[in-house]
Amino acid sequence: MKIISGKELSDKLKKNMAVETATFESHFGRLPKLAVILVGNDAGSVSYVTGKAKACAEVGILNETIRYEETISENELLQKIAELNADTTTDGILVQLPLPKHINEKTVISAIKQEKDVDGFHPLNTAALWSKTDCILPCTPKGIIKLLKSENIEIAGKNAVVIGRSNIVGLPVSKLLLDENATVTIAHSRTKNLAEVAANADILVVAIGRPKFVTAEMVKNGAVVIDVGVNRDLETGKLCGDVDFDAVAEKTSFITKVPGGIGPMTICCLIENTIECFLRKM
Ligand code: NAP
Repeated sequence: MKIISGKELSDKLKKNMAVETATFESHFGRLPKLAVILVGNDAGSVSYVTGKAKACAEVGILNETIRYEETISENELLQKIAELNADTTTDGILVQLPLPKHINEKTVISAIKQEKDVDGFHPLNTAALWSKTDCILPCTPKGIIKLLKSENIEIAGKNAVVIGRSNIVGLPVSKLLLDENATVTIAHSRTKNLAEVAANADILVVAIGRPKFVTAEMVKNGAVVIDVGVNRDLETGKLCGDVDFDAVAEKTSFITKVPGGIGPMTICCLIENTIECFLRKM
């Protein structure tokens, strides 16, 4: 069994990106800039946004975090997005989710210019992903594939089971695994015999948001297990994934841990997407 460290890989990739961005001012006259909009004070969202700003600094790109009270109207938010869309020095725009209930997330995400949609959630980027057209890939799924490839894990011909079908993780990672020629099963809350379905996986990706949900009986011997979940352990209060790591790890060939697994890869891919958006304009 090997623990695949997203932290280690993302540190290495960020260092490489820092070398690349060091040449940008002299080559292009400016640095890439990521604008992050945060609405409200949700502790999780604040910590994600702080992590994103820190990663921008590490890689040497600019970051502007714009904070609003929970009470901001949808219109005000859309106006800010229009302003950032028009600003030629802003390359990437990210609206931290979730948004308060009175704001329609789909409207807000659709308002971001496709070419500045560094999260890859815009409907046009989603359509491009599903039609195998060049696009900005959603960060978490992109990070998962990078992590698998970094360990030379064979994907083609393997049975990949993805538990979770969200637009952010489950669906796009399923598509990327399919593009890598895996045979993909997407499981969800209505899947019958979930343990049996999961135990058929050579590669098991879990993105459901339930602490330690995946137990040893759900994992095939020698499987590769990717744990996307970020939860609080109800007993210890510590961060934990969707996989019961201590019970499952022994059975796997490769496994990611929470924290230190997919989270850092997501942020790393966000920075990569921002640089990609910048370079596409240059
Ligand atoms: P989400 O939108 O809430 O989707 C959860 C998915 O899990 C749904 O498709 C749901 O099925 C399925 N599900 C829920 N309970 C289940 C059960 N008992 N059995 C089988 N399937 C079940 O969540 P998300 O945004 O994809 O996020 C999932 C987890 O990943 C969360 O913990 C989140 O914090 C974490 N996450 C981490 C990162 C990172 O960078 N590490 C990034 C994004 C998300 P239905 O569709 O049938 O309801």
